[in-house]
Amino acid sequence: MSPMEGKVAAIFGIANKRSIAYGIAESLRESGVQLALNYQNERMGASLDKLAENLGNPWRQECDVTDEEAVKEFFAAIRKEFGGLDYLIHSVAFAKREELGGEYVDTSWEGYALAQQVSAYSLLTLCKYATPLMTGRDGSVIAMTYLGAEKVVTNYNVMGVAKAALEASVRYLANDLGPKGIRVNAVSAGPIRTLSASGVSDFIKLLDFVAEKSPLRRNVSTSDVGSAARFLLSEDARGITGQTIYVDNGFSIMGI
Ligand code: NAD
Repeated sequence: MSPMEGKVAAIFGIANKRSIAYGIAESLRESGVQLALNYQNERMGASLDKLAENLGNPWRQECDVTDEEAVKEFFAAIRKEFGGLDYLIHSVAFAKREELGGEYVDTSWEGYALAQQVSAYSLLTLCKYATPLMTGRDGSVIAMTYLGAEKVVTNYNVMGVAKAALEASVRYLANDLGPKGIRVNAVSAGPIRTLSASGVSDFIKLLDFVAEKSPLRRNVSTSDVGSAARFLLSEDARGITGQTIYVDNGFSIMGI
């Protein structure tokens, strides 16, 4: 029996089969983890309904991460349904398409604030309501990030700055939650063709460049990320917290 059998994971961010969160859900399900999923709105809920069977028809509830009341209700419902929580997966981000191209200096305040709210601040909101359910359960939290937090990636702009805030938040949350036995880490995935990624100008060029330059000479898949995420959530990673772990075929080690 897998040591993760029967654990409970709340996964935020499945939009469709290409979503990184879907790869994580598949990987956790293989290990017998019980899934609790959010969907952002009714339309996303209908799309999730179509995928649900592949994932064993898991429990799910609408929850926009910018709506604190909805987040509170989401985790109250999880407490009722499962009695507690072991894992939290934050795989959510948003920036306006017009902010993901051109020059960073042209970012509007509204666009900047929205990217931060959805992509970084939401991790705090989720942790605030999720972690009380992890008492006595060695909880583990992961958030999805990208190299654009640390290095300039053309067109990533406002989202790079939001990811920098997300990675710093992971460290502060790891320090807050460590004494409660809860670990918090970020997974920095290489580029993957998803709905969100399609908003970044010239994303296809980026995919080709990364595949050519990465030590492993390919792009990562959602299944690659799912496996690494499962490791970080698991007891095997019990000594790891506050870190950003790269799942990028080694691209981030390259200089020129
Ligand atoms: P995706 O479009 O499949 O997933 C993004 C999800 O965010 C969607 O499910 C969407 O519904 C959700 N979302 C957006 N705003 C929300 C809100 N207000 N409330 C609730 N949910 C909301 O794209 P993805 O690429 O799988 O993105 C998942 C995460 O991975 C993001 O944090 C993204 O930045 C990160 N990431 C992506 C890549 C990549 O190249 N695709 C690389 C590294 C990191």
